[in-house]
Amino acid sequence: MPQESQSRSPRQAQAPFFAGVDLGGTNIKVGAVDDLGRCLSRLSIPTDPEKGPEDAARRMGKAVLAAAAQAGLESSALARVGLGAPGTMDIPSGRLVKPVNIKGWDDFPIRDRLGAHCGLPVTFANDANAAAYGEFWVGSGRDFHSMVLFTLGTGIGCGIIVGDLSIDGENSHGGECGHIIIDCSDGARLCGCGQPGHLEAYASATAVVKRTQEALDAGRPSSLRRALDERHPLTPKLLACEAEAGDALSLEIIAETARYLGVGIVTLMHTIDPSGVLLGGAMTFGGGETALGRQFLGWIREEVGRRAFPVLGARTVIDFATLGGDAGYIGAAGLARLEHRKLAKN
Ligand SMILES: [Zn+2]
Repeated sequence: MPQESQSRSPRQAQAPFFAGVDLGGTNIKVGAVDDLGRCLSRLSIPTDPEKGPEDAARRMGKAVLAAAAQAGLESSALARVGLGAPGTMDIPSGRLVKPVNIKGWDDFPIRDRLGAHCGLPVTFANDANAAAYGEFWVGSGRDFHSMVLFTLGTGIGCGIIVGDLSIDGENSHGGECGHIIIDCSDGARLCGCGQPGHLEAYASATAVVKRTQEALDAGRPSSLRRALDERHPLTPKLLACEAEAGDALSLEIIAETARYLGVGIVTLMHTIDPSGVLLGGAMTFGGGETALGRQFLGWIREEVGRRAFPVLGARTVIDFATLGGDAGYIGAAGLARLEHRKLAKN
């Protein structure tokens, strides 16, 4: 059963209704939304990856029905379910291929198994693309015609939406912009995917921690040492605390991270010329809520301003995402809605 739940009574909720599922390595978030993308219910269950994918598909199916009930809906009122899952995956066949962070779930037909357990048709998507669609539909990208969402966390997730199209690619590897190359030198850092020079190897939380540790090992003075002596783990959050207290090294690492992101963002701007580029995820150094987060965004914009075509530098919106952890399941539901509408037309 759901570990936590929260529901909101639908205020003139508009049919048809959809459910979204965001499959993560630790938790699975599920929610019901209406035709305008308004969230009607929300719950979270543990992924428990060691119990295997079939067990998870069964629990996800139950959670979809529970989300409908919480929203005051019969399950038959749900037109379709959207499922966002981590890559690698094969979207046309509905299979996980080798999902990062969920060991032992390789080559599992998750779309159809979830469909069997909840009795509803399922739309299958990459989790980062689903999150991007969520922001595009009802988040800070809702006024955009096209956009890119970078999700900054342990790795860097990315989704690209153009019009009402999520860029999945021919091999379900579209929009993997955490892996665009920003350093082609021989000494380039190695990415978690095994290839050198990718953005993720420079600007993910993992990379930020690694770069900071290297600077400390090289003897750079920093108030981080005292915090580490007090057994605080070295994380971007600790870096943010020390930067806010005036630590020059922490500030420098954050500024450098912003510059790497700026370089990657310009590549995307020069590739697809989107209305906007949004930044979400756990590593935004406080986001729009803090002076440091706003400074981080300012540094990214400065780097973009230095490197982008002037007209794009002036016009492309670069901002924080607003849906937080809700983007994934709302966007998955939104992609299910798109497929529902497409099928209804044919
Ligand atoms: Zn990579």
